[in-house]
This record gives sequence, structure tokens and C-alpha cells, in this order.
Amino acid sequence: MSTLAALWRVGLLALFAWTSPALAVTGDTAEFVKLADDVYAYVGRKNDANAMVIVTNQGVVLVDTGNNQPDTRDIAQKIKSVTDQPVRWVVISQYHGDHFGGSPYFTPPATLIVHDRVARDIAAMKPHQVKSWRKRFPERAAALEGLSPKDMMMSFPDRMTLNLGGKKIELIYVDDTYNIGDVAVWLPESGVLHGSFAAYKDRHPDIRPDFSHGTTITMLKELEALLALKPRVVVPSHGPLSDVHDLQAMVDYVLLARQKVRVMMDRGVPLPEIIRQFNMDEFKGWDRATHYDWMAETIYRELAGLGPIIVKTTEVETKGTLTKVVEAGRNLSVDAGDGKEIRLRVTSDTNIEGVADRTQLRPGMKIEALYEVPQDFNSALGFDVIELGVKP
Ligand SMILES: [Zn+2]
Repeated sequence: MSTLAALWRVGLLALFAWTSPALAVTGDTAEFVKLADDVYAYVGRKNDANAMVIVTNQGVVLVDTGNNQPDTRDIAQKIKSVTDQPVRWVVISQYHGDHFGGSPYFTPPATLIVHDRVARDIAAMKPHQVKSWRKRFPERAAALEGLSPKDMMMSFPDRMTLNLGGKKIELIYVDDTYNIGDVAVWLPESGVLHGSFAAYKDRHPDIRPDFSHGTTITMLKELEALLALKPRVVVPSHGPLSDVHDLQAMVDYVLLARQKVRVMMDRGVPLPEIIRQFNMDEFKGWDRATHYDWMAETIYRELAGLGPIIVKTTEVETKGTLTKVVEAGRNLSVDAGDGKEIRLRVTSDTNIEGVADRTQLRPGMKIEALYEVPQDFNSALGFDVIELGVKP
């Protein structure tokens, strides 16, 4: 390298160090962004779940339903601000609460469209889940009496095309043993893609050893299918809008992550040590480095052909006082009186009594909770709550 080039490089590095990469995290308030004629993205605040809106003269197609109740109502408002058409179809890109949880706001009269495997899971919802689904929006209680989500649902096995008011909307499922039905939504006329789970921008992917969020091999298969579409704009499940270059970056990321684990396995490094050593520091500035442990273990299980960890859970009851409430009530710390802190996680399936929703939870409240404790599993985010009662 010439002296000049070296100096230039030092200068460039200094510039990068000085600008220090901002994490790929969305702003403090949600944004509603026009992507093409009649196509909008709802970009959730602080990387909360995104949604996509397609307006046709036969009604609105909504892809995903908001991270929580305020977001769902906000999405409905934003839709009203651009069209008088009612929401008639709700496509679920990923069967997790932060994508599916707002569906009772729209269905009925809207119809739910999901992948066949998700439809089977929805049909098998447990009573507390159906109860929580009906109660999620008090203003909808009368409309949902006696209903469950399967009562206005259609599903498809592989691909489905909606032709509505002259617009073409393609739903794409990439098959995988452990992929529970992630659906990408492609608008060939405008080049807009809702990329579902695989399409993160600058974010360490959320994959887990129970394969509940797919696997790296699923991601590669999905990314390959999505890259072939050459999208102009990509709406990821979470985080800032992206494009085809970000899809390619994610392919590079996943290949490198797999290679790192493979090399350690070939050297006979045991799993706990692989988890300790594994990092993806080449991707500095990417959000959620907290995902490293799970990622290393997931890849290890994939490469060793072990399949997902089957997690057995036991239900545990506790009473106590909330000591910490973060992320609008999603994550709670409870003092159960014996000096031990229990970390709980409110999901969209949690049936909450005593307050309207989790955003009303405050430190100091006395609660009773029934929660699930997985055996032999790293519950890094806390235990999932089934029932949560707030005492007056
Ligand atoms: Zn999500």
C-alpha cells in the first residue's frame, strides 16, 4: 500500500470510528411510509413489528397486525388516513404474537390468510389463548363473542395469488421441516416485498435452539427465493426498510456464522465452549448481539443433525410485587417475597385480568401469575406468562 493510500485508509477508519455506526433501530415513533402507489409500510417504533398495507378498490390487504394494541389501533388509523376502503384480508407473515396478535381488531369482517401449518396451530389454540385473543381489544368484545380466529380463516400450502382490483399480490411460502409457515408477500408490479422473517436489515437474526424461529438453513432457502425476485424495497418483519443488498448481506452473515460453528465442531470443541467463543463481531453495529448464544447453539444442532430442542415446560404459580416493568409491560421483574427476583415475559397469549393490557402495568402493583418454566433451556428473556392477575 502506498503511503498516500495508507494515510487515506487511516483517515477513513478514523472517520468511521468518529461516526461510530448507529444501530439499525427504528425511531421513537412508528412511521407510515408510502412505498408505491397504494402500498404503505408501517414501520414499528424501536424495531417493534412492521406491517404492510396494500389498498385496492376491492378492499385493503393488511400484512401483519402490529406489535401491541396501541400499534394495531394506530395501523387502523393510518389506513383510514389514506383510504375509505375497509380492511378485508389480513395476511400473517409469521405466527408470533407480535404479527398475529392484532388480528381480532380486524377479523371479522376481515378474513385471515395464513399458511396451512399455521392454520393447524390456530385451530389447536388452547382455551386461555382464545380467551386472550377475544379480550385483546375491549371495543371488539361484542363482535368476537363465541368466535375463535379459525372461524374466519383461509390457508394455502405453497403459493397463493390474490388478484384484487387490478392488483396482483403473491404469497410465498418456502418449505422447510422446521419452518412453521413464514409467508413473504410480493408485489411484482411495484417491486415491493414483505420479506417476513429472513429479511432483517443489520440485525443479528433471532434463531433459537427450539427452532421456533426457523433455522439458518431455512433462512438461506428463504433468502435465495427472495433474492431471485430482485425487490426494489423490502419490508422486514422488524426494523428499518431494506433492499436487495441487505438480503445479500444476510446471506453472507448466515454463511459465515455457519462456517464459524462448523470449524469449531471439526476441531472437537464442545458445545458450551463453542457458545462461549462464538461471535459475529465482523458485523459491528448490527442490532441484537444478545442473540449470539442461541445462534451458536442452533447452528450446532443443525450441523450435528440433532433437530430442535424439545422443551418440556412446567406451570408455576407465584404471587408478588412488580419491581420492574420494561418495554411497555413486555418484560417484568417480580419480587415474590423470598428475596428472589423472577423475570417474566408477557406474550400476546397472556390472559391479563385486572388491567386492560400490559401497557397499564406499573412497578409496585401486586400480582398473581401462572407461568411456564422450560426445563433444561436458557430462558434468556424470562418465563412466558399464561395468566396474569393484577390485584386492586
Ligand atoms: Zn416478530
